[in-house]
Amino acid sequence: MFPPGTLYSPSQFAKMYPSCQCCGQNFDPEPGYYFGAMFISYAISTALFVAAWIALSFLLEEVTLLLITAVIILIVLGLLPINFRLSRVLWIHIFIDYEGPCNRIQKK
Ligand SMILES: [Zn+2]
Repeated sequence: MFPPGTLYSPSQFAKMYPSCQCCGQNFDPEPGYYFGAMFISYAISTALFVAAWIALSFLLEEVTLLLITAVIILIVLGLLPINFRLSRVLWIHIFIDYEGPCNRIQKK
């Protein structure tokens, strides 16, 4: 779905191929298609927050608000491209089934 080598390029991590290079599936079927991916991204971020908070609580005697905020900001910024792409992949997968490896499917 995404061009290789662009994951941590700040201006290109959001770029997507217009359609699947293997089967021709349109990756942007309608305007605003990926609006729902925001909710998946939100869920992933929340899970990361909770995991970071629990991990810090186990590792340190005292977890201050400043520390947890800094750690969360680092995690969110560091994983932003991965979270962005993962949420879009999961979102499109809800509506469009994966048909298998490229050499086993017909081009649309
Ligand atoms: Zn495909």
